Amino acid sequence: MPEPSPSAPSRRIGLPLGVARPIAQLARRVSRASGREGGALPGRVLLGLAPGALASLARSGRRRGRRIVLVSATNGKTTTTALLAEMLAAQGFEVVHNVTGANLRSGIATTLLQAGRRGDVAVLETDEATLPRVAPDLQPDVIVLANLFRDQLDRFGELEVLADRWRDTLAALDPSSTTVVYNTDDPLISELVYDYVRAATLEGHAPSVVPFGLDDEDVAQAGLPHAADSRFCRRCGHALDYDHSWVGHLGAWSCPSCGARPEPAQVYADEIALDGLAATTLRVSLDGGGHRELRLRLPIPGLYNVYNAVAAIAAAEVLGVDETAMTDAIATSAPAFGRFERIPVPGGGTITLLLVKNPTGLNEVVRTLVSSGVDVTATLFALNDGIADGRDTSWVWDADIEPLLERAGAMVVTGERAAEFGLRAVYGGLDPAGVLVEEDLEQAMYRVLERAREFTEHGHAYALVTYTAMLRMRAVIAAQGWARTYWANEPRKRGRR
Ligand SMILES: [Zn+2]
Repeated sequence: MPEPSPSAPSRRIGLPLGVARPIAQLARRVSRASGREGGALPGRVLLGLAPGALASLARSGRRRGRRIVLVSATNGKTTTTALLAEMLAAQGFEVVHNVTGANLRSGIATTLLQAGRRGDVAVLETDEATLPRVAPDLQPDVIVLANLFRDQLDRFGELEVLADRWRDTLAALDPSSTTVVYNTDDPLISELVYDYVRAATLEGHAPSVVPFGLDDEDVAQAGLPHAADSRFCRRCGHALDYDHSWVGHLGAWSCPSCGARPEPAQVYADEIALDGLAATTLRVSLDGGGHRELRLRLPIPGLYNVYNAVAAIAAAEVLGVDETAMTDAIATSAPAFGRFERIPVPGGGTITLLLVKNPTGLNEVVRTLVSSGVDVTATLFALNDGIADGRDTSWVWDADIEPLLERAGAMVVTGERAAEFGLRAVYGGLDPAGVLVEEDLEQAMYRVLERAREFTEHGHAYALVTYTAMLRMRAVIAAQGWARTYWANEPRKRGRR
């Protein structure tokens, strides 16, 4: 799945788009006929034949009035993209967006290729390492920078290197036509945008930026949790102070040395109440605490999903979505692929799938499960080390999983690195007899469901799984006929405009 990663957007001479496009579409038909969905192949063929195709596709869409939104983050970009696409559809826009996982350069090219002449807005989930390779070509109307957490470091190198590449990405945008929607609670991203605004202003532009964030101390943690990634000021190198934090290093930060601090959020959430695993209620202010506000019930749990909702709302506001469409879309939103997705199983009970891929994400899943008070007696952890999971699985040692272990008492452990996670669990205080290793992932699922039936009142099981384990688990679930296959979860088109 990962592509080679040359630095700058490609300017190699290739075939004209008009010649390359039919060949790529043929590749799509061949891959469909062979029983595989389009995926990244047509885009890969297209970019191989015509390296400048992304820019051409973006330009031809723009001539027909199609706008482009790029959504990037290490955590939550799938949910944010889905929420934004739903809001735009509720407003009556025709939305083009990439299916789950097709967020690399070839997947984005496939999406634009397949859209053809369709679409008022292209909402493109963009892998964080891919963003610098596509943004200069696509010249988005809106770019959403939601967070930067430590994630799959072996693939990207240091977090700071990624931040530097995002800085170059912003510098390559046209400040007269791009709006930057960004998380002001993330000091790394705030500093990038600070530099962008300063440089653009010096050049005589009035750059359009929309800071978003949270503003509710009642749901915050004091200080900074131990797995937090960003502890030092990017401007002067001094350690940052945190009054409190909401998710990882996203919080009320400030630099005691140079005085750097977050820009006040224009779109922010407060009065947040977490209703277990069922929903979250919140108020969102759209104009920096003026008069325009939304009262929302978000039917997906966890504080990090509040960030995803606020990011989507901030972008939707820029794109001209009204408050009714925002509220409707949020009220009917469903968990994105593998994000607190609850799947009923025959004979009663459910299995809830929770994607985990880095310490911050795992901490939030643990925190949401524990604070919701659900019975976690039947819990499974699947740790794989494929490329899409991150080859380096040492991140499980950085996460604070002890509260979950304590409540669970035992855990079904599976995946290619089951033994490593088992060791981690024992170091975290789990009795070795409670580490139920089951190497085969399908058997592990049956075992945790059995545990749920035997030991819990309602038969609810929870599965914390890394990406490729999630794919495998979904395949088992689909084969058993327990749930719709995930590619059926396209945004619904609603003609309200
Ligand atoms: Zn500083």
